[in-house]
Amino acid sequence: MRKVEYIITIKGTTNESVKIFPNAVIDLLNPKQDKITHRRFYNEEGNVKVDIDLTDHGHSKAHPIVPHAHDWGMAKDKGNSGH
Ligand SMILES: [Zn+2]
Repeated sequence: MRKVEYIITIKGTTNESVKIFPNAVIDLLNPKQDKITHRRFYNEEGNVKVDIDLTDHGHSKAHPIVPHAHDWGMAKDKGNSGH
């Protein structure tokens, strides 16, 4: 059976959703920059799995690599992605 993924684009600067539907992908469109700044992947249970940041959050020292990934993995119970 083919795996179906849904990519949703929302406008804003933060994605607060840590749980939605299985295998979802959410793109975050920054309305000021008019570009995608963030993409979030969810696992087969609909829980947040990994974030892909397409910016350095304005902190190039902390985030020298763009784009970069934030793997929620063990951090998912903390309520943030460890930025
Ligand atoms: Zn980041």
